[in-house]
Amino acid sequence: VKRDPHKKEFHQAVREIFNSLIPLFAKEPCYMEHSILERIVEPDRIISFRVPWVDDNGRTQVNRGYRVQFNNTIGPYKGGIRFHPTVNSSIVKFLGFEQIFKNALTGQPIGGGKGGSDFDPKGKSNGEIMRFTQSFMSELARHIGPDIDVPAGDIGVGAREIGYMFGQYKKLKGSYEAGVLTGKGLEYGGSLGRKEATGYGVVYFVQEMIKDQGFDFSGSTVIVSGSGNVSIYAIEKAQQLGANVVACSDSNGYIYDKNGIKFETVKRLKEVEGKRIKEYVLEHPEAEYVEGSSGIWSIPCDIALPCATQNEIDETSAKILVANGVKAIGEGANMPSTLEAIDVFLEGNVLFAPGKAANAGGVAVSALEMAQNSMRLSWTFEEVDKKLHEIMHNIYMRSMNAAEDYGYPGNLVIGSNIAGFKKVADAMIAQGVI
Ligand code: NDP
Repeated sequence: VKRDPHKKEFHQAVREIFNSLIPLFAKEPCYMEHSILERIVEPDRIISFRVPWVDDNGRTQVNRGYRVQFNNTIGPYKGGIRFHPTVNSSIVKFLGFEQIFKNALTGQPIGGGKGGSDFDPKGKSNGEIMRFTQSFMSELARHIGPDIDVPAGDIGVGAREIGYMFGQYKKLKGSYEAGVLTGKGLEYGGSLGRKEATGYGVVYFVQEMIKDQGFDFSGSTVIVSGSGNVSIYAIEKAQQLGANVVACSDSNGYIYDKNGIKFETVKRLKEVEGKRIKEYVLEHPEAEYVEGSSGIWSIPCDIALPCATQNEIDETSAKILVANGVKAIGEGANMPSTLEAIDVFLEGNVLFAPGKAANAGGVAVSALEMAQNSMRLSWTFEEVDKKLHEIMHNIYMRSMNAAEDYGYPGNLVIGSNIAGFKKVADAMIAQGVI
């Protein structure tokens, strides 16, 4: 707090993890002796840079770019790039910090990092996106590489932006390093199943969690916030498993379709046509559109999957969800619930799958993309999906076992944080003070 007085999202992420580690430190004080906490909260480096670009009117615009290389103890830095006007150093630090433990939980050899820019892609032409993205990569290229730091997409960064970044990196380096970025197009080194991985992964994780309590997606009413990459594929997988997904949203408002959202319409509106979610009701007048995105949490449901952004569920929304009988929460987004909201869920005996564990499917399949790039081959969709399923099962088991071992059976917040932390901390101790 003294070193970073204004970084409230970063403080929130650190507080959640440190609180979860109390049972570990009580049982194994050796981690204290090695000053792991003091070392792990300080990133290896934070890079901040100017991103100048020329808009369609010939005016020069300037944004700020970031890359935080947090921890590479178990593998190259790995984490997405976010383009959104709210991006600042607190947001990239919280995301990078969470990424260390999430990546460790996957069981794959990847360290933690994150990046982005305060550039707003909304309303920009394709040419503007390309010029901005190329300028962003012109600086970033000197800091990344397949064995150094491997960025991917996040909010506002999908296959198109990754494609422009990859093209610019290749031009600057003069070599074809397929493994420098993940989330690439299928024609040039991307992995089948990557686009679907985070959304499918969160549903696979929640499926494990609710199965233990004797219920299922089949016949459950589900709400998914957002309508971006994670949300779209969470909706698809939940519906494939027999759920009635009744609502989704964007930052302006939400749609409610009590008979079930028509997945193909949402996918086309958002992925192909780039339209707002309110356009849905023009095609499906039986559905309702409500202005204001936070109202989505007042719809009664069995399972809520927040898949939009940080702190989208506050204490008030959490209380409404609990009062309406929600049975399980699966965080598709990073830190979508405030600390107070998490307390409400845990105290209300709601099954709670924290983002660090539940949304790790995206980065896990990114690591599978890196593996395919290294081997210069491609796996089928079914192979990747099967591996994703196994990885999500293993993350669930690791988190449940750690929760049990440290005296909090069933608490996946404590379990996932301890399991992820221990793996990195043990490797840090083995590698000495560096
Ligand atoms: P996208 O940019 O594809 O989609 C984000 C969606 O959330 C958009 O529909 C956006 O609407 C909506 N949104 C933003 N703010 C709000 C809000 N306050 N209320 C309701 N909806 C909102 O991003 P992703 O789907 O890739 O990422 C979503 C979340 O998942 C982020 O937290 C990200 O860090 C996390 N995540 C993503 C992974 C991935 O593989 N993509 C992996 C792991 C985590 P609008 O168009 O109006 O902005």
